[in-house]
Amino acid sequence: GRKLPTPSETRIVTVSNQKGGVGKTTTTVNLSAALARAGMQVLVVDIDPQGNASTALAIPHNSDVDSVYDVLIDELPMADVVKPCPDVDGLVVAPATIDLAGAEIELVSLVAREQRLSRALNEYFTYREKQGLPRIDYVFIDCPPSLGLLTVNAFVAASEVLIPIQTEYYALEGLSQLLNNIQMIQKHLNSSLKVSTIILTMYDGRTNLATQVADEVREHFPAEVLKTVIPRNVRISEAPSFQQTVLTYDPQSTGALSYREAAVEIADRGHAAGI
Ligand code: ADP
Ligand code: MG
Repeated sequence: GRKLPTPSETRIVTVSNQKGGVGKTTTTVNLSAALARAGMQVLVVDIDPQGNASTALAIPHNSDVDSVYDVLIDELPMADVVKPCPDVDGLVVAPATIDLAGAEIELVSLVAREQRLSRALNEYFTYREKQGLPRIDYVFIDCPPSLGLLTVNAFVAASEVLIPIQTEYYALEGLSQLLNNIQMIQKHLNSSLKVSTIILTMYDGRTNLATQVADEVREHFPAEVLKTVIPRNVRISEAPSFQQTVLTYDPQSTGALSYREAAVEIADRGHAAGI
């Protein structure tokens, strides 16, 4: 593909939706891989205790591995937990371990409990600069399906929110709760946070329902919804069990194609917005 515009500053994108199974992890993993394959330096931060993004990117995350848990709770430097993704050059991953499930509660009593991820990321960027490592162009934070302190940390660290919406009944249900939470964060903790991107996932163009839902979401969020929709594609769901992104697993599939297109659109829109 063509060379993408490099953002003028690191874009930190939180991939969030408190509903499970809407395509957060799939979108995080495949967009990150598409951007890295197009020459961007990309960091994925997995903050879901399930560690699905870590698994999909072939990063070990059993309970002895140093992870985002140690970064958030014990202030271990991010540089000590970040590992290169074997499948994709230019993509590095901070894995999640199951002990992150407890972090939700452990964070409550810690100082700067909402800012811990933000601080760790900034220290990591400084570390890379000192080491002469290339600047990170994109960070994608894969959130758990909840709006607890882990997700708050992601919102505080981020410049943008990307919301995957599954194109089905009740697509918009629960969205107002998510948007209210984001407003609270904007008001009290991170005034520069912006919902930049909504991506329609698991789209089945053969059904009237999918087209209706897509139209409805576009009506509510005309500026945010990407033109590119992610189709329902079995290759997308098969890829993680081979510890590959769909871009490697089946580069010609509609799933791979759509994630490559979405990556281009996100890069171009950022560039057009002066980011
Ligand atoms: P979340 O992270 O929001 O819980 P996932 O990304 O894990 O959601 O997706 C939920 C399930 O749906 C997974 O099994 C995944 O492989 C599958 N899936 C996601 N996107 C697609 C798609 N476009 N086509 C087919 N299956 C998909
Ligand atoms: Mg997930």
